[in-house]
Amino acid sequence: MAQSFFRSGLGRLVVALMLLALAPALVVLAQLGSGARSLAVEYAARQQQQAAEAAVRLFEEMLDSVARTLENAARSAGDWAVGAECVARAAKVAATQPFIQRVLVVAGDGRVLCTSVGIPATPVSLGDRPYLRRALASPGLVVGTPVVGRLTGEVVLPVAHAVPAGPPSEDGARLPNTPAVLVAPLDLGWFARLVHAMSDESGGESFALIVSDNAQVLAAHPRIADLPPADRPAAHPFIEAILAAPAGWAAVADFAGRDRIVGFAHTRSTGLAIAVATDRASIVGPITRELLIALGLIAAAAAAGVGAALWVAQARIGRPLLALAEAAKALRDGEVPPPLADRPAVREIALLAQAFTGMAAEITRRQTALEAAKHELEAANRHLSELAERDPLTGLANRRAFDRALEASWKRAQRQALPLGLLIIDIDHFKQFNDRYGHLEGDACLIRVARQLASIALRPHDVVARLGGEEFAVLLPDTDLPGAVALGERIRARLHALMLLHEGSPHGIVTASIGAASIVPLDVSEPRVLLAAADRAVYAAKASGRDRVAAEGLAEAA
Ligand code: GH3
Ligand code: MG
Ligand code: MG
Repeated sequence: MAQSFFRSGLGRLVVALMLLALAPALVVLAQLGSGARSLAVEYAARQQQQAAEAAVRLFEEMLDSVARTLENAARSAGDWAVGAECVARAAKVAATQPFIQRVLVVAGDGRVLCTSVGIPATPVSLGDRPYLRRALASPGLVVGTPVVGRLTGEVVLPVAHAVPAGPPSEDGARLPNTPAVLVAPLDLGWFARLVHAMSDESGGESFALIVSDNAQVLAAHPRIADLPPADRPAAHPFIEAILAAPAGWAAVADFAGRDRIVGFAHTRSTGLAIAVATDRASIVGPITRELLIALGLIAAAAAAGVGAALWVAQARIGRPLLALAEAAKALRDGEVPPPLADRPAVREIALLAQAFTGMAAEITRRQTALEAAKHELEAANRHLSELAERDPLTGLANRRAFDRALEASWKRAQRQALPLGLLIIDIDHFKQFNDRYGHLEGDACLIRVARQLASIALRPHDVVARLGGEEFAVLLPDTDLPGAVALGERIRARLHALMLLHEGSPHGIVTASIGAASIVPLDVSEPRVLLAAADRAVYAAKASGRDRVAAEGLAEAA
């Protein structure tokens, strides 16, 4: 039932309307979703940017701290004995700061005299490093450009501080004999690790980078597999895109093509920039999930809404309309429609049902009135046709009815090959009766004669009729000529018995001349043959003296 309603016109309309109503909600939801996503991206970008700026501040502080450490060390380094003492002293300095990878004591010509991890087995020279010459030429900390450390193979940021010249040592075993420099390669990998640890809030989805101003990655944490080797760094489009972004953050695809939100900041004292990247999916994903949940809820609510709307529409519109249609069909088929149940319906349909009930009642009332009028009319028609076949004066069948009866009896006799008899009775000298007693008396006489004719015991199919004036007929199916004559004689006797006074007649009473005829009709013959024969017989009776029965002898020969 529900399914068929769902497929019905009304059901489809309801569904279409619900979807139409739902569409704006979906548009708003999509709008909200995209707004929320871009807000979240912007928020994440600002956080990454702030993390990058914090990392830069930390970098500068650490660099300051390294500068102070090296300056202090340089102040006393003039007294360090070359050899084990140099190593121990350098190691002590290196241990003060985890940023300092190691400490190198370098002679003015670039020879590495000792390091915090020992004296190099084979001579190592840093004579070609520009920062070394700069350090020899100027007081204070000198920051070099990132290089691949000759001792470690890792990218380091070398910083250097000259050892101030002291009094010459007696044995030449002390540093100030030669101009010397303290060199500290700073561990960029360690710093990247530190920045990552500070800024990673997305559970391992982020990474920290230290990049050069020519878009090379100097250090990364976690390590990035696709990076070019440290001794052959190359600019990467990802990094170029970051450095080109004016706002301090960028949303770009990383080395592996994964969408990232990156915040970055440039250091002041070096050409380095620090970038902190997080995964875009980890920012947008939860929002998309929320959005999908909201979408699911809306879909479920819409389904429930459609279901409820269908149910209501079915109960309030569909079923009442179907009931109305059934009732209208019944009315069309001439049945009395069943009363419409008093089920709840929308107002318009309730009004329609009301109007329908009124209309049905009116139609039924008119139908009943029409039936009654029809019956009346039929009765009137029956009466009229009876009147049309009846003689008004005597109540006998009239000429028309007689003709019809003759026709019918003739056919029946023809089919059954039985004789059909006929008597014509003509009152004698009736003109004179009228003349003597008046027309009213004449009528009364005709009525009495008619009553006699009707009262003679006749068989069911016999017909007594007034043919016109003072002439009557008796049609006698299945009666041969002798039978007809016998009945004629009985009629004549009855008239005598009436003793109706007729002073103008030779008999003194009302008499009649009766012509009898009978025939077994043949296929070719017609009823008027019988009528003519009976007429001739009447004529013969009149001619031979009246008050008698004459027979026309064609009975077996027509
Ligand atoms: P016959 O013996 O030769 O039959 O003579 P008749 O006078 O009876 O015959 P005729 O045909 O000359 O006259 C018939 C008369 O019947 C004429 C008329 O005055 C009378 N008549 C015919 N119809 C009616 C009727 O309805 N009422 C009355 N009172 N008389 C009628
Ligand atoms: Mg007559
Ligand atoms: Mg007559």
